[in-house]
Amino acid sequence: MKKQTLALHHGYNKDEQRTMAVPIYQSTAYEFPSTEYAAETFSLQHGFDNVYTRIGNPTTAIFEQRFAALEGGSAALATSSGMAAIFYAAINLAEMGDNIVASKKLYGGTVTLFTSTLKRFGIEARFFDPANPEGIKNLVDDKTKMIFFESITNPSIDVPDFGAIAEIANESGVVSVVDNTVPSPILCRPLEHGCDVTVHSASKYTTGQGLAIGGIIVERENLSEKLAGNPRYPQFNEPDPSYHGLVYVKDVAPLAFVFRARMSLMRDTGAAPAPFNSWLYIQGIETLPLRMKQHSGNALAIAEFLAGNNKVRQVNYPGLKDNPNFGLAQKYMPDGCSGLLSFDVGDYESAKSIVDNTKLFSLVTNIGDSKSIITHPASTTHQQLSEEELIAAGVPQGLIRISAGLEDPEDLVNDLEQAILV
Ligand code: PLP
Repeated sequence: MKKQTLALHHGYNKDEQRTMAVPIYQSTAYEFPSTEYAAETFSLQHGFDNVYTRIGNPTTAIFEQRFAALEGGSAALATSSGMAAIFYAAINLAEMGDNIVASKKLYGGTVTLFTSTLKRFGIEARFFDPANPEGIKNLVDDKTKMIFFESITNPSIDVPDFGAIAEIANESGVVSVVDNTVPSPILCRPLEHGCDVTVHSASKYTTGQGLAIGGIIVERENLSEKLAGNPRYPQFNEPDPSYHGLVYVKDVAPLAFVFRARMSLMRDTGAAPAPFNSWLYIQGIETLPLRMKQHSGNALAIAEFLAGNNKVRQVNYPGLKDNPNFGLAQKYMPDGCSGLLSFDVGDYESAKSIVDNTKLFSLVTNIGDSKSIITHPASTTHQQLSEEELIAAGVPQGLIRISAGLEDPEDLVNDLEQAILV
């Protein structure tokens, strides 16, 4: 089935009340019909049966199945935030004494997770330039457990060569994990280009209206085959003493990655989504294909206007024909490049003035809302960085980031034009 159809139907066969809307199963736990049935459930004889909402919930399960289908994956685990999804993906693979190899251009929260919190777990982060995947080869050793990058980087808005990165990951037997938040599965499916796992902040385009914080992890078909017998990943190949000696790649293949994240990490640390939030994501997904089209069209209209304005030094949007990422964007996201763009007006004061004088754009440090958002990274998210660090991070003082919403594109362009002229 096509994405638009999956987005409306996948995973829900209507309950006994025949409700058109997916019901919210707002329950902490689920009754077992007998002790015998309970014992069978705990020894997995009923598959993923309902036990306790920390490890599974019927509403959340529909969100997981629908999102996995859209992403072209085999299974998914929903989490209470995008950061929890990234954290679980990382610690499902890496342990104390290991290292991970990550793109230099990442969301700031991911950078601090990797350089600060994972460091305290004894996991080292090594960084590569996403414009040069070959550089990964110099960083990978036998303790490397994850190669991580974003499918559209933020706020520099670059598109890495996923296929090249996946090839290097496959040659070395390392699992590749892609943060696919910005294009969403509607515009881009990294698993189809050889990547192993995707993570998302559902707080952005998935909910779509800035309604709830959430995340999700998706594993590709047959990832268990890459993990099986792979000396990098003993945790998937040796009996887990906390789960009756279960061997993930043997006993729960082909869904070993998500199963372990759920039944070990989620069980023990509990960053589970609220059923109501899962229901909000399901509502969001129903219109996601339509919205991503409009977000992309609006961003392109804004980018084209900015590219023709003499007060603007540079526009970063991979949908522009003269953008250095245009070719890769056409290859990996031919139906649109999502709603995120940035542009440089040269200096801090000019950028601040434009941000303060827009009327339709809200000054918010978020992306993916149906309402348009404008951000000045140098005075907000990247305030702590020195001039040199700002340039290294691809965030000059005059850079403005826009998350194009769903308003009429002419109104958005007119609003930016009057703000630039002030
Ligand atoms: N990944 C990207 C690309 C993001 O932009 C964000 C948040 O801005 C996150 C992950 C973290 O997601 P959350 O805020 O849902 O924890």
